[in-house]
Amino acid sequence: MPLTRVPLTGFTNPAGKSVSVLLMSAISDLATPAPASAAAKPSLAGRDRDGLVQALAEVGVPERELRMRVSQLWHWIYFRGARDFDAMTNVAKELRARLTEAYTLARPEVAIEQVSSDGTRKWLLRLAGAPGERPHEIETVYIPEAERGTLCVSSQIGCTLTCTFCHTGTQRLVRNLTQEEIVAQLLVARDKIGDWPGMTPPEGAVVPQAPRFISNIVFMGMGEPLYNLEAVKPAIETLSDGEGLSVGKRRITVSTSGVVPMIEPLGRETGTMLAVSLHAVRDDLRSELVPLNKKYPIAELLAACRAYPGLSNARRITFEYVMLKGVNDTPADAKELVRLLKGIPAKINLIPFNPWPGTKYECSDWETIERFSEIVFRAGYASPVRRPRGRDILAACGQLKSESERLPVRERMALRAMAMTE
Ligand code: SAH
Ligand code: SF4
Repeated sequence: MPLTRVPLTGFTNPAGKSVSVLLMSAISDLATPAPASAAAKPSLAGRDRDGLVQALAEVGVPERELRMRVSQLWHWIYFRGARDFDAMTNVAKELRARLTEAYTLARPEVAIEQVSSDGTRKWLLRLAGAPGERPHEIETVYIPEAERGTLCVSSQIGCTLTCTFCHTGTQRLVRNLTQEEIVAQLLVARDKIGDWPGMTPPEGAVVPQAPRFISNIVFMGMGEPLYNLEAVKPAIETLSDGEGLSVGKRRITVSTSGVVPMIEPLGRETGTMLAVSLHAVRDDLRSELVPLNKKYPIAELLAACRAYPGLSNARRITFEYVMLKGVNDTPADAKELVRLLKGIPAKINLIPFNPWPGTKYECSDWETIERFSEIVFRAGYASPVRRPRGRDILAACGQLKSESERLPVRERMALRAMAMTE
């Protein structure tokens, strides 16, 4: 679909700059989504091996052939990125026809694609719901850097938690994503940036100087992944499978706001890297920012971190700390942070707060962030301040909020306008 740049005449953002919006031509459908067709064929894209076995058995593939046929499908879907069964030249023609009749390899539809001036891409994906269910939307963000490309995926539509500085937290939970919908975010991203064998990126795209354009995955989009571990776990198996998508488990990071009882199972059952959204060093303040802290306070959270399976200096936990002006950003906070984390193999990520319309918080001043970072650095932590990416398209951490919660038109326009400010 062609991209159209729509000038928004008569609209200025708070800084008084002129604005324009990059929209897919499908944007106009957003207000009135079509109901999912009851007759739609199921898609096999995103299914794990068990799911494919079931699909093949249903079209009559005999038991003794199942293993071999699943390997073939796996290779085509997850190694080559096939989008229809006809491409699968080593699968018997007659079976291809049966598969085509019963299934598709469709991905969620890209409702909107936004490209930031720094090369970050944000896709609003429309999920085909159950028959009769209104389609929902989620967001997936691609962040290219010099030597790696990171895909930030969502694990839920909305979030049950209500962290006060997070835009997603203002959206109620609609539902958990399925494992297929989680995996499909990588399939769509690879389609869009041409990251399959034999494909090239679209003209003008920013991609890393690396063999794969998407080398890392972070569960830092919408939702709390540890409240959906049932789907996140098999999705991670598919994403990391060496015969298919092959994103190594050490390149997959699951970020949690601190669901303590699920931290050990995550490490034991998936072996991925852990990121913890700490954001405050005192329970009273953390309970205000991350209300889940009332249930699982800092001491319990850090005890679970110390016990994270596989933790070592080579496999550190990332502690995320959002810099909120006048709230959690004093030198005393920095010193206490360092003291709290003593003995835990850790990295500290200072995240400049990404504002969104209606928030009461502001981002700390640059000097304050530098002072904080210096204290953390002196204590022996490399403390990269995470450069905000894709701010112009509202793709940065905590700014994600799908259109599935219908915003008033004016707010939607304002969001988009801010999103594309030069
Ligand atoms: N629910 C999980 C993962 C998604 S949020 C979690 O909370 O960890 C991913 C990261 O973005 C978290 O560290 C979250 O605290 C941070 N974040 C949320 N809103 C933000 C904002 N407005 N500015 C900067 N970071 C934010
Ligand atoms: Fe949910 Fe994470 Fe946002 Fe908190 S920060 S509301 S847990 S998405």
